[in-house]
Amino acid sequence: MAYDLSFAKEVYKTSEVGYWIKMCMQCGVCAGSCPLGPHWEHSPRQLFQLVRAGKMEEVLKSDSMWMCTSCYNCIVRCPRGLPITHIVHGLARLAVEKGMADPKQPTRRFAVEVFWDNITSTGRVGEAGLTMKLYFIDGIGPGIQRGLEMKNQALGMLKTKRLNPIPFRSKIKGFAGFKAMLDKAFELEAKKESNA
Ligand code: SF4
Ligand code: SF4
Repeated sequence: MAYDLSFAKEVYKTSEVGYWIKMCMQCGVCAGSCPLGPHWEHSPRQLFQLVRAGKMEEVLKSDSMWMCTSCYNCIVRCPRGLPITHIVHGLARLAVEKGMADPKQPTRRFAVEVFWDNITSTGRVGEAGLTMKLYFIDGIGPGIQRGLEMKNQALGMLKTKRLNPIPFRSKIKGFAGFKAMLDKAFELEAKKESNA
């Protein structure tokens, strides 16, 4: 049976640096180097092979892309120099664009529903506000339960001054420049999408 190359071609063309997947020689160094590898449904090596085999559903419904912490271990060690981290994030984005990413996937929810708003409102992450929003994302009951589960860690962090308990924070110096940079990025992205 012949491979259907349409999905691979789409990834090469539209996903961030997706064309690099062609260079993967399936050595598995990335899978062995990833600190989260044992917890992934598919390692980067497997994801890239599935792309080449035209397995769109397996790739875009996999939650592996959402597990990447951008530690760059794989990039440093890949013998072919693939920008693995960026490819993985590009696949996650493609999954969202195609409506195939699970909206309940916890890492996605953290990124989209919590982290983005938190950092873009002032230009810096506010730990207390971030944690509160994350814990209470599913309502008051689950939020209280999570808070109680994590109370010892929170107290330890407070004691060692690793957690700022004040939920309000001022904007960074140069916030207008930060906003202008984000607006420009959105403008370029919209242009890219309208040309696709
Ligand atoms: S380390 Fe690089 S070449 Fe090897 S499987 Fe991973 S992406 Fe492919
Ligand atoms: S950057 Fe992502 S894929 Fe690469 S080793 Fe780190 S967690 Fe794994």
